[in-house]
Amino acid sequence: MNDLIPPRLRDDCFAMPQGVEWVPVDEALDRLRAALVPLTQTETLPVAKASGRVLAADCIARRSNPPRANSAVDGYGFAHGATGSGVQRLPLVADRAAAGQPFAGTVPAGHAIRILTGAILPEGVDTVVLEEDCATDGAMVAFDGPVKPRANTRKAGEDVAEGTVALTTGHRLRPPDLALLSALGIAEVRVYRPLRVGVLSTGDEIVGRPAEAARPHQIYDANRPMLLSMAAAWGAVPVDLGHIRDDPALISAALDRGAEAADVILTSGGASAGDEDHVSALLREKGQLTSWRIAMKPGRPLALALWSGVPVFGLPGNPVAAFVCAAIFAGPALSLMSGAGWAEPLAMTLPAGFAKSKKAGRREYLRARIGADGRVETFASEGSGRISGLSWATGLVELPDAAMTIQPGDPVRFLPYQAFGL
Ligand code: AMP
Ligand code: MG
Repeated sequence: MNDLIPPRLRDDCFAMPQGVEWVPVDEALDRLRAALVPLTQTETLPVAKASGRVLAADCIARRSNPPRANSAVDGYGFAHGATGSGVQRLPLVADRAAAGQPFAGTVPAGHAIRILTGAILPEGVDTVVLEEDCATDGAMVAFDGPVKPRANTRKAGEDVAEGTVALTTGHRLRPPDLALLSALGIAEVRVYRPLRVGVLSTGDEIVGRPAEAARPHQIYDANRPMLLSMAAAWGAVPVDLGHIRDDPALISAALDRGAEAADVILTSGGASAGDEDHVSALLREKGQLTSWRIAMKPGRPLALALWSGVPVFGLPGNPVAAFVCAAIFAGPALSLMSGAGWAEPLAMTLPAGFAKSKKAGRREYLRARIGADGRVETFASEGSGRISGLSWATGLVELPDAAMTIQPGDPVRFLPYQAFGL
């Protein structure tokens, strides 16, 4: 046939197709946020075992911090009312007040007592002078007045008052929070049980077992270890659903297992509409699939579905796209499902160490890191197959949906991996 002409790539072959609805990233995020709900199961844990867990109830201070007025320094305590300007010389009471060893008596007005950091202010003491500002012979103490009333003391409850809310529902506990809760006499907390995140890889070309030899046409499963460890970093329980060949029956069985063992499933590969894209075909048939063609680069197709009521994120197979889609969409979504609320990554605005221009239509994420000069440099290649760039980077530069030209020195949005909780 002479009229058969091979297709020719045009310069704009990757431009936005006409008449196709592309979902902007923000709209996709809004829809996702509206669609998901948090876990309902909770449990009670000792505070010491609750780091990383999400509070399912407000924490109310059982006692004040500090519980009683005490000294902030090592020094000498007295009643401010009996002191004035100029050199002050006060007789010392025979005893002392130390942390854990309160002075039971009363310090008479015009007298002073040796007092150490953390000691409860004895009756008759409202002010403390630093020992470095004093001279003493053991019987008297001398210092320069005037001294500010209540100097070097801490008021009872000045940090947290008994009965007030110290931490609220939805807060993910970090090490400093354990200090706070413990100080407030809170021994146990009500927390959500951890979210179980199933991770599944698909593809006939994928070798699922890292120790297995790979034939020339095969590649190792890069996504599953990455996604499992992302889930763990997000405080979830990773559930390895394995690697499955492109066989609808096997994928279906794996999704069934996932729906039993997990609260949410992340799949990678087979999510677009190609011949071999069994995940999307299966989800379309049995899983109320919504395929979102998200206006972003990398990682356009994001398949969202419910499998036996369990949300399934069909992430792109390409590891760079899988990572970006997981960080941008799955991260905040899993945070919401965990009870911790939607998690917006905290962006930094930094000067660009690169030049780039982009067209309107798609939000772009570039693998990037902060250079020695404090500018954001991007990975040499934007090729989405370059997994090394993900590892080289310490974060992503986010370029807006609109067209943009960036010159070195221009401010850009940098999202450190840490901002995604990674
Ligand atoms: P797909 O979305 O299945 O068309 O896959 C897109 C690209 O990602 C293909 O080059 C796949 O070989 C590759 N890919 C899919 N899954 C994985 C995986 N788990 N690890 C590494 N590469 C993958
Ligand atoms: Mg595939």
